[in-house]
This record gives sequence, C-alpha cells and structure tokens, in this order.
Amino acid sequence: MTFAATVLTLYPEMFPGPLGVSLAGRAMADGKWSLDAVQIRDFATDKHRTVDDTPAGGGAGMVLRADVLAAAIDASVAPGIPLLAMTPRGKPLTQARVRSLAAGPGVAILCGRFEGFDERLFEAREIEPVSIGDYVLSGGEVGALVLLDACVRLLPGVMGAASSGDEESFESGLLEYPHYTRPQMWEGRSIPEVLRSGDHAKIAAWRKSQAEIITRSRRPDLWERHIGARVQPPSGARHEEEE
Ligand code: SAM
Repeated sequence: MTFAATVLTLYPEMFPGPLGVSLAGRAMADGKWSLDAVQIRDFATDKHRTVDDTPAGGGAGMVLRADVLAAAIDASVAPGIPLLAMTPRGKPLTQARVRSLAAGPGVAILCGRFEGFDERLFEAREIEPVSIGDYVLSGGEVGALVLLDACVRLLPGVMGAASSGDEESFESGLLEYPHYTRPQMWEGRSIPEVLRSGDHAKIAAWRKSQAEIITRSRRPDLWERHIGARVQPPSGARHEEEE
C-alpha cells in the first residue's frame, strides 16, 4: 500500500525538496509513498488570487482566509486521511504520533504563512493542530517536511530489516545511548572498553544506563515521564501527550 501524502501550501515548489533524495527519495521512486503538493492559491475566487486578509480587530500581518483554505481542503483531502495543520499553537509532534500516522493510509498537511489561519477553519473542519517545537518558523512547509520525513522512514521496507527504529530515541521513552565507530583511538580518546568486550548482556546494560543518564540530564521532562510510567499501572501509564 502506498502512503499518500498531500501538502496544501502557497509554495508547492518547496516539495519534495529534501524528501526527493536518500531514503525518502528512494522510497518514493519505489512507490512506497506518494506526494501531492497542492497550491492553495488555485482555490481563491478573485482575479488577484487572494488567499489572505487583514486581521479582524487590527494588528500586524495578514491572516489566511477560511473560505479559500476550506475549498482547498474539500477538493484535495481524501476521506479517511487525517488532516494536520502546522502551527506553533498546536500540540507538539511526538514519535508516538508519527508512528500512528505512518501506520495509516497517509496524511494531509496544511501549511500556514503570515500570521496563520482564520480560527473558524478549525471549527468547521476536522483538523489536528500540530507544532514541531517551541519556536516560530516563517511558514509551515519546513514543518511538513519534518513530519513527512519522520513518517516515511517508518514505512515498511524503507529502513530495511536491520534497522527497525525500535531502539531509537523516544521509542522507549528515553533518548538513545551514545554510538562509537572506528578508529579505535581518536585524538587520545578510545571507544568505551565494554563495547569491545563482546559480552552482549554487559553491553545492553551499559547502553541502558547511558540512555538513562543522558535523558535525565538533557531531558528532565522525558525522564520524569519515564519514571512516572514505571511506577504507575500500565493502563494509566500513557500520558495524554503520547496518545
Ligand atoms: N502568528 C503565529 C503565532 O504566533 O502562533 C505564527 C505564524 S508563523 C510566522 C507562520 C506559519 O508558520 C504558521 O501558520 C505555521 O504554519 C508555521 N509555523 C511556525 N512555527 C511553527 C511551529 N513551531 N510548528 C509548526 N508550524 C509552524
């Protein structure tokens, strides 16, 4: 089954961009996923192809019009495909959400520009507002590329059997342990002895403790959640943000 991605944007020329090369590019060429970049401006109704207007109540910038966006959505998003809107006001994207999207038939992503969307769009259509982090980008396109990259690498057969992604950061609620490779000695630093021991149980234990140390120091928020999940019964263990 092909994972069908639709991106609604004022800049369709930004796609596939970096997703046309490497892992994602090969997967697209192999038919594992498809990408349709839809020009929102094609759904404007005036001769100037206007998609925005001044904010009600005054203030700086322009706001994307609900009527134009709704027409673009209604014409381009297939029933049953989840529709996400890129916005810093959205719920932060998680690996758990990426996994659930990658397991489905595809995704449609609405990219904002200017000050963002007329809020009534979120009342009138089923749209999941998603943020890729606590900072402000100039447009949703880079966020859409991030989301699609994260989904595509998880599609069956894209990463290959050797690397399922199961051990990666966030999969177990922790950041991943550190990696090393040859040369054995570099600038006076050697690879940790345990990784050269050949003792798989010892290596697994070392990696687990490293993952815990690094998560605790770099991401106290993840660490708290991980600890909480370990002490709570399984049914209550999943936090709302991970649903
Ligand atoms: N006025 C908006 C606010 O303060 O929340 C910011 C608008 S931003 C300049 C323009 C567009 O970039 C947004 O509509 C959204 O599509 C995208 N964008 C910016 N930051 C983002 C983020 N952290 N995550 C996802 N999309 C983002």
